[in-house]
Amino acid sequence: MHNLKSKIRSIPDFPIKNITFRDITTLMQDGESFVKACDILYDRYKDKEIDKVVGIDARGFVFGAVLAYKMRVGFVPVRKKGKLPFQTISEKYDLEYGSAEVEIHSDAVLKDERVIVVDDLIATGGTVAAAIALVEKLGGKVVECAFLVELPDLNGREAIKNHDVYSIMSFEGE
Ligand code: AMP
Repeated sequence: MHNLKSKIRSIPDFPIKNITFRDITTLMQDGESFVKACDILYDRYKDKEIDKVVGIDARGFVFGAVLAYKMRVGFVPVRKKGKLPFQTISEKYDLEYGSAEVEIHSDAVLKDERVIVVDDLIATGGTVAAAIALVEKLGGKVVECAFLVELPDLNGREAIKNHDVYSIMSFEGE
């Protein structure tokens, strides 16, 4: 059993009151833990015939890009609105705090491509649901959604119940 969970820093009342922010930067800045987390994802997906990794802005870029590199497949960013320069499609969604809109380049995923969607954390599932909707609008198949951290109390799996979810660790009732 790995001790990656102990590398997550929990910040009470950030960015607003009553939210405990699960800070993955402490895991990332520890070389052994960063490599371990990346290897766990790579070992899970290396034989799944994946065509693309889609990473969610911004912490999903870090792990998604490493995973894509290790699998020798393309990496696609899902970005917050207004950042992508070419033709995009977009999706609005609600966050644990506030609301947002994400975009993907309209040529970034091809029909029937097998995709893993990566983010640092799943809370309500709203963000990843929007990313899935973007991939599927382009004709891609979401094989699984992968996270470092899951907050099961917020029922993210329910928000994307037709898709498989994998998380390296979870914080339940904490
Ligand atoms: P959600 O859409 O509710 O599943 O929220 C997931 C997104 O918001 C991810 O991109 C996370 O980085 C961020 N997020 C939401 N809640 C937290 C939290 N408690 N700690 C750290 N990041 C969070």
